[in-house]
Amino acid sequence: MSTAALAIDLDAIAANWTALARLSQAETAAVVKADAYGLGAGRIARALARAGARRFFVAVAEEGAAVREAVGPGPEIGVFAGHMRGDTDMIADLGLTPMLNTLDQVTRHLEALPGHPFGVQLDTGMNRLGMEWDEWAAVAEIILAQNPVLLMSHLACADEPGHPMNPYQLDIFHQMTDGLGVPRSLSATGGVLLGPDYHFDVTRPGIGLYGGAPFDRARPVIRLDLPVVQIRALTTGEVVGYGNSWQATRPSRIATLSGGYADGLLRSLSHKAVFWHEDRPCPLVGRVSMDLITVDITDLPDDPAYLTLLGPHQGVDDLATQAGTIGYEILTSLGPRYDRRYLSG
Ligand SMILES: *Cc1c(COP(=O)(O)O)cnc(C)c1O
Repeated sequence: MSTAALAIDLDAIAANWTALARLSQAETAAVVKADAYGLGAGRIARALARAGARRFFVAVAEEGAAVREAVGPGPEIGVFAGHMRGDTDMIADLGLTPMLNTLDQVTRHLEALPGHPFGVQLDTGMNRLGMEWDEWAAVAEIILAQNPVLLMSHLACADEPGHPMNPYQLDIFHQMTDGLGVPRSLSATGGVLLGPDYHFDVTRPGIGLYGGAPFDRARPVIRLDLPVVQIRALTTGEVVGYGNSWQATRPSRIATLSGGYADGLLRSLSHKAVFWHEDRPCPLVGRVSMDLITVDITDLPDDPAYLTLLGPHQGVDDLATQAGTIGYEILTSLGPRYDRRYLSG
């Protein structure tokens, strides 16, 4: 086996959902967009449905197919992008619930699929998706008469608990939705952690399910082991990899691992990342290339069969820091070449 092994702990994902559900004084949905943050939407949606999740969200209608197949006809699958042109058949056939973002989408939905469930996304200041206040004020009455299943908005700064944008958006959301008698949703993972004022009727955690910040108490979900393809000895002064960017300052042993930027091991990890052999750190040396990574194992007493990049000593957010990015990007970059193994039970 020369592809790296990506172990995905379904029990840990279910436990993280349950923990966030306990914190949420509300129904807790599960966000499984982008193939469940790169980890496999079908397997994960099924595990979360078994743990009790009854509502899922995806970014675009196409992503609803795998989730519907996994969870069967019962659970609601919301679509953040709403009802886009060309999506009507998919929304109808898969039984998706679009979160309508614009007047055009409202018109399209009510004309094409009258009586089909929908939600409405409202913009409370992020200026990304959803209807603005004046638009909403103009059409709320007409839309409310069609019985939306959810009014939702999204927080821009929820990962910073002290940020003034949080209470600002909370206030706007109240003003836009108080007294309308429709279930409401404001919070993703960060908002769940801001406390019950932010929970309303439905919370929408994503990253926290997959073990990422800002849910510090999450159980780690993934382990990534890269097999060693070759080990060589270098004399002082020899160089490694593209651009000769690393030079041995002592006699060294270099392991070449199977895995590279084509697998989402970002090139910005060059010279920065650390691999692990049990409790011993081994620095990545030279540049990350498409399929291969070189690691200095001079200080190991023996020759490892593989080295660990994500595991007990180093989580997704640690690696994100080394790469200069966030855990979300590390997860969603993990490529299709891994041997994904789902652990459960
Ligand atoms: C991605 C997303 C979520 C989930 O966010 P996390 O930070 O991963 O918990 C929730 N709501 C919307 C609108 C999103 O785009």
